[in-house]
Amino acid sequence: MTDLHEHITRRIDAATDELVTLTSELIRFPTINPPGEDYTLCAEYIGNRLKKRGFQVNYFRGHGTPGDTDRFPRTNIIARYEGRGPGPTVHFNSHIDVVEVGPDWSMDPFAGIVRDGKVYGRGACDMKGGLASSIIAVEAYVDANPGFMGAIEISGTVDEETGGYGGVAYLAEKGLFSKPRVDHVIIPEPLNKDRICLGHRGVWWAEIETLGVQAHGSMPFLGDCAVRHMGAVLSAFEDELFPLLASKQTDMPVVPEGAKKSTMNINSIHGGDGEDYSGFPAANVPDSCRIVIDRRFLLEEDLATVKREVTSILDGLKNSREDFEYAIRDMWDVLPTMTERDAPVVKAVSQAIEEVMEKKPEYVISPGTYDQKHVARIGHLHDCIAYGPGILDLAHRADEYIIIDDMVESAKVMAFATHQLLTGTK
Ligand SMILES: [Zn+2]
Repeated sequence: MTDLHEHITRRIDAATDELVTLTSELIRFPTINPPGEDYTLCAEYIGNRLKKRGFQVNYFRGHGTPGDTDRFPRTNIIARYEGRGPGPTVHFNSHIDVVEVGPDWSMDPFAGIVRDGKVYGRGACDMKGGLASSIIAVEAYVDANPGFMGAIEISGTVDEETGGYGGVAYLAEKGLFSKPRVDHVIIPEPLNKDRICLGHRGVWWAEIETLGVQAHGSMPFLGDCAVRHMGAVLSAFEDELFPLLASKQTDMPVVPEGAKKSTMNINSIHGGDGEDYSGFPAANVPDSCRIVIDRRFLLEEDLATVKREVTSILDGLKNSREDFEYAIRDMWDVLPTMTERDAPVVKAVSQAIEEVMEKKPEYVISPGTYDQKHVARIGHLHDCIAYGPGILDLAHRADEYIIIDDMVESAKVMAFATHQLLTGTK
C-alpha cells in the first residue's frame, strides 16, 4: 500500500464515529418522496457541512418539474472542491429522497438508531449510508492529499425514487453532468460493497384500457362489460405473454438471478365505480377498465419489439373477441444502459476494491433503473457506475439498515478510486 493510501486509510478509520453520526443525522430528515418532504433542510445540512470544509456550494431548485411547489420545492445541492490546478473532475451523486415507510417497522424509521454495528432507518441503505460514505471518503482524500489536481464534486439530488426529473435529469439538462465540468461519476446506490454496477435494464410503463358500454347492472346484456374484456386481456397475457418473457434470458450480469429474464408487473387495475368508490357499488355495467403495466426489458431487446409483443396480443383479441375495443397510452420508458468494463471509472473502482477487500469485484446490472440513465442520455457521460455499501435486498424494506464496517470499507474504495481517476495512478 502506498503512503498516501495508508494515510487515507488511517483518516477514514479515525472518522468512523463521524461517519455513523453523519448517517444518523441524514436519516433524521424524513425526505419521503412522494411528496418530497424536507428536501431543502436535508440539502442545506449537506451544504453547510461541506461549505465549512472548503467546498463551493450551490443549490438548484428543479423549478416546474413534477411535484415542485413552494410547499415541496425540489432542492438539489452540488458541492465542488477545486484542487490546486486543472485536471479531471470526479463526481459522487446520491439521491436524498427515500420511499414511504410502509408497515412492519420495529422502531422509529427516522431516529437513525445505531445498534449492533448497524445504523437503522428509512434510507439507511438506499442511500444515505452511501452518501455519508462518499462525504467521509472525499474529506479524507482532500485532507490526505491537499495538493491534488482537478476537482471533486458531491451532489445530493431529489426524486430518484420517482424518476429523477427534478433531480439529476434537471441538473443534466443544465450541463452539470457533462464534460468538461464532470468526467467520472460514481453513484453510491446500495449494490453491495464488493460489486460494481455497470447499468440497468430498460423500462416501459403503459396504461391499457378496455372499453365497454354502460347499462343497468340488472340487464348487463344491454351493455358491454369493460372488466370482462380486461379479464380476456389478462388471460391472454398469462397464456402468451408471460411464457414469452420467461423464455428470454440476457447475457448481461443482471442481479438477482430472476431479473436475467424479461419481466412484467401489473401495477394496478381499476374498473367500474369511479375514483370515489366508498364500498357501495352502483348497479352499473362498467364502460372502462384500466391496468398499468411495468415491463422491464433486456439489453438484447428493443423497445419497439417490447411494445409490439403487447399490442399484437391486444390486436389479436380485437379480431377474436366480439366488441373488443382498447386504448393504450405510453407513460414512460427508459432504454437499458451499460458502461463498458474497461471504462476508467470501472477500472479505478475495481482496483480499489481489490486493494481494500483483497478480492475481485463482481460486475452487475441492476434490475431497476436509477439516475445513471440521465447521466448517460442527457449528460452524454458514459463513465458512470453505481457503487455503494448498502445491501441491495434491504432497499425499501422495513427495518432497513446499513452495516458500519461496510460503509468504512466502501469509503476507502471511493477515496482510492478518486485518487486514481484524478491522477491516472494507483
Ligand atoms: Zn436508491
